[in-house]
Amino acid sequence: MSALGQFLDETKALSCVHCGLCLSSCPTYLETGNENDSPRGRIYIMRAMQSGQLGVEAAAVRHIDLCLGCRACETACPSGVQYGTLLEETRDHIEKHHGRGLFQWLLRRFVIEQIFPLPWRLRLALLPMRMIRFLRLTFILPKFAREMMELLPQRLARGKLPAERLAKGEGRGKVGFIEGCVMQVMFGDTNDSSAELLQRDGWNVVTPASQGCCGALYAHSGQLEKARECARRNIAAFEGQSLEAIIINAAGCGSTLVEYGELLKGDPEWAERAEAFSAKVRDLVAWLDNSQVTPVKSRKKVTYHDACHLCHAQGIKDEPRQLVRARAGGEFVELVESDLCCGSAGSYNLTEPEMAKKLKSRKVQNILESGADVVVTTNPGCLLQIQSGLKKAGANHVRAVHIADYLK
Ligand code: SF4
Ligand code: SF4
Repeated sequence: MSALGQFLDETKALSCVHCGLCLSSCPTYLETGNENDSPRGRIYIMRAMQSGQLGVEAAAVRHIDLCLGCRACETACPSGVQYGTLLEETRDHIEKHHGRGLFQWLLRRFVIEQIFPLPWRLRLALLPMRMIRFLRLTFILPKFAREMMELLPQRLARGKLPAERLAKGEGRGKVGFIEGCVMQVMFGDTNDSSAELLQRDGWNVVTPASQGCCGALYAHSGQLEKARECARRNIAAFEGQSLEAIIINAAGCGSTLVEYGELLKGDPEWAERAEAFSAKVRDLVAWLDNSQVTPVKSRKKVTYHDACHLCHAQGIKDEPRQLVRARAGGEFVELVESDLCCGSAGSYNLTEPEMAKKLKSRKVQNILESGADVVVTTNPGCLLQIQSGLKKAGANHVRAVHIADYLK
């Protein structure tokens, strides 16, 4: 074992039998053709780090950094390898033992960890950027800042939801709602649409003010202890409310919320409470009643992009398609490579902009070839990534929308 200690769950690491069936579904392997940028290659690297054959050195870290965490390899793997958990454990180990350069350190430790998870800080940080864009002064910014600006939505929407919104018509019970940190700052209208759909379906929607970031940004960037703190806060916020379900409309957050049990399994005080919380979490698309969806009277072609953390991490593919098909009324078209990552992957498009751009172009190309006028998805990161890609391609006639806004 490494002198730095054991960080991987050995049983999970050994479950990979190196068959290679996951390689063709891995976006980074498809782009680079390098075995070290494939799931199998990365698992070799993780195990070599664990055994001490490989140190936490720059070349090895590079291949782990380049992983999107999209978990397409889990969908493809016949042996049930829990790649997502192995990746989070390895990244936690890397952040403890590997020094980052100044730019990456500032981006990861300051922007991603200190600003994104706190809505008031994010609003404040976005003010000067919005002002620069309003005054059309983006040309004064360095390249990386201009690229970040491209991801900003045109407008920020209203903030927090009220503590409770009552069902419309006959009530069916009470559900909790997770309003997210990036969601409530950049997609307040989408949260509003989500609550409206739940109310129409007969649910009282409870949004506790004491909830916070789901912890996904921390878990994905190698800060597991911070992710655990977020989990404890959210569990406490929703406990004792007699809820039928806890609803989330952002796939990236949902995949972390359903794994609170795994995240806190070593904590005797919280393990059971975390399991109980996760058992109640449902993505909005898996909870809405599709018989309530009314077809839209429009000849616009509609397609659907699978957010990785919905289709690969949570195995939800059919439900959103049924909802979109019900609304599109015969105008639905399937998207080629719909479940291939768009390159957003949480904060990946900030930390690995080059690979993110390649995957964004690939996604936009597929959308344009589908002939769709509207592309529907379920995650804020995908929306921002696809919107910026469509804009860059000059495809202003194609709209990317969250499923809640599409259905409302
Ligand atoms: S998580 Fe995605 S990018 Fe990473 S190894 Fe698996 S398929 Fe490849
Ligand atoms: S992760 Fe699964 S599919 Fe990929 S090489 Fe290992 S066992 Fe095979």
